[in-house]
Amino acid sequence: MCAPSVIAAALAGMSRRDALHFAAGVVAGVACVACSTGASGAADEPLDANPPPAVPGAKRTIAATNVLDLTHTLSPTFPIWPGNEPIKLTNKGTFAKNGFYSNRWDVGEHHGTHLDSPSHCSPGITAEKIDPASLVAPAAIIDIRERVKKDTDAAVNIDDLKAWEKAHGRLPKGCAVCLNSGWDANAGNAKAFLGTDAGGKLHFPGFSKPAAEFLATERDVAGLLVDTLSIDTGAATDFAVHKVWLGAGKWAVECVANLGKVPPSGATVFVGAPKVQAASGGPTRVLALWG
Ligand SMILES: [Zn+2]
Repeated sequence: MCAPSVIAAALAGMSRRDALHFAAGVVAGVACVACSTGASGAADEPLDANPPPAVPGAKRTIAATNVLDLTHTLSPTFPIWPGNEPIKLTNKGTFAKNGFYSNRWDVGEHHGTHLDSPSHCSPGITAEKIDPASLVAPAAIIDIRERVKKDTDAAVNIDDLKAWEKAHGRLPKGCAVCLNSGWDANAGNAKAFLGTDAGGKLHFPGFSKPAAEFLATERDVAGLLVDTLSIDTGAATDFAVHKVWLGAGKWAVECVANLGKVPPSGATVFVGAPKVQAASGGPTRVLALWG
């Protein structure tokens, strides 16, 4: 954390807009330090546990002029994987009758906009053990909407990732690579969202196995976001991307909304991953921030 004198000196040389961004970064820095120590308060962890910036002397700033919700509202009609029970909502109290309003949720961990922890498809850490610093990530939006119009089985491939890097520079350290296929527009229609064909096979976009391998081994990426039901394509039956990606100790968020409104580079995503004991994942609030 910066001492007040350092903050004052830095602000003196900035425009008002830059200063606001700097201040947001300081606030985010406070939040990151706070969450790095854990909500239960690990007293033995030093406050400077937050990792230093990659470039010596550089400060991490998070612009927040725009805050966009990337989360679908979860309801009993939200599309879910075949064979699962939809969320069940039971009222447990109304203000008029009980003096408080409260419900009970019976919900699967992979319902709605949700996290897949590394433990989901192979041995790995469960959701509550994910490094909180990895959940605040620069966003790289990979837009394959044009290809999806002609091919609902389209997958992000290495060429898509290289094309993004040609336009925006190398994928930033610790980033979240986000698939924008435009599929979130189908979320109100389960049959369209699953892309179920006459034979019961699913069809929707995802990542290719080579792209997942490239991101897991050639780049420093924290997580994947997809606007479909799975990081694999719907037609994939071997779940190769799940195995490669989660098996590498990374997280993913599926059923994300609104990626078409986020700039292709320069935004930051906050992934509100659930902190439930031994969770394989869980419904998650995801926000995008940018200047
Ligand atoms: Zn999942």
